[in-house]
Amino acid sequence: MKKYCFGADIGGTTVKFGLFDQDGIVLDKWEIPTRTENEGAAILPDMAASIREKIQEHGLKMEEIAGVGVDVPGPISEDGIVPHTANLGWGYKEVTKELTEMTGLPSKAGNDANVAALGEMWLGGGKGHTNVLLITLGTGVGGGIVVDGKILTGAHGAGGEIGHIHVDDEIEECCGCGNQGCLEQFASATGIARLGRKILEESDAPSIMRGQEMSAKLVFDSVKEGDALAVQVAERFGRYLGKAVAGMTAVLDPEIIVIGGGVSKAGPVLLEYVQKYYKPCAFKSAKDTPFALAELGNDAGIYGCAKLILG
Ligand SMILES: [Zn+2]
Repeated sequence: MKKYCFGADIGGTTVKFGLFDQDGIVLDKWEIPTRTENEGAAILPDMAASIREKIQEHGLKMEEIAGVGVDVPGPISEDGIVPHTANLGWGYKEVTKELTEMTGLPSKAGNDANVAALGEMWLGGGKGHTNVLLITLGTGVGGGIVVDGKILTGAHGAGGEIGHIHVDDEIEECCGCGNQGCLEQFASATGIARLGRKILEESDAPSIMRGQEMSAKLVFDSVKEGDALAVQVAERFGRYLGKAVAGMTAVLDPEIIVIGGGVSKAGPVLLEYVQKYYKPCAFKSAKDTPFALAELGNDAGIYGCAKLILG
C-alpha cells in the first residue's frame, strides 16, 4: 500500500521538499541549499541523501512510498531529461533516472511553472477543475497549462511559456529571451515597474508614487488609494495581460484561469484590471471563464511534484 510520496522543487538557491500522504496532507516540509558548483554535480546526491534521512526519521517503509516528484527551473522532457539548465549548472542530465538509482524510488519530473500549475489545480486556486491555465507574475512571467489533469509539456519542454507571447511592436528594449515585445516586458513585476516609471516621466500630474522606489507593489498599493497615474499603469498592464489571456483561452478553453506569483499579492484589484480587458477580447465560449488567485504561494511546486507521483 503506497501511503506517501515526496515532492522536491529544485530552485537556483534551495531545493524545497515536502513529504505528503496520499490525500495531499503535508507531513513534513524542509529545504536544503542547491549546490550549483562543479556543474551542479552534488544537487541530486544531496537530494537523495536528504530523502533517505527523512525516510529514517519518519520510520517509513520503502514499499509505502509511491515515489519522488521533481521540478526543475527550465525545460525538461516527459521522461525526465534536461538538455541544459543554466541556473543549476547542469548540462545534459537524466534527472529521474539518476534520482531513482540513488533513492530506489520511482521518480517523475516536470518544468517548475508547469508543475506549479498542477499543484494549483490539485489543491490551490484551481481546485475542483482539470483544465487550468496558470499565469505566474513574478520577476518574469511564467505559466503552466493543465489539460484533462495532465501538464502540457510540448515538443521542447517549453509548453506554457506564456511570458514570451508577443504583445507589443513599439518597445525597443529586449526581453530576456532575446525577442522584443514579450508579455513579460509588461506584466512581470519588473515590467509593471518599468511602465510605472514611464507614465510618471510622461506626466506632470501629482502622484503618491513620486519620490518612492517604483515597484509593482507600489503601483497596486497606489491604485487602492485612488492614485490616477497608478490607475493608468494598472490599465496598461491589464490591457496587455487581458488581451494575451483572451488569446490563450480561445485556443485552450480552460475551466479556470489562475493568477499567481509575487505580483498577485495585490489581490482581487489585479484581477479586475485583467478581466476588464479580457472580456471584450475573449471568444464567446470563454467570456465568462472565471479568474482566481493562486493559493499555494511558494509551495505550489512541491504540491505539483507530489501530484506528478500520485496521478
Ligand atoms: Zn521573451
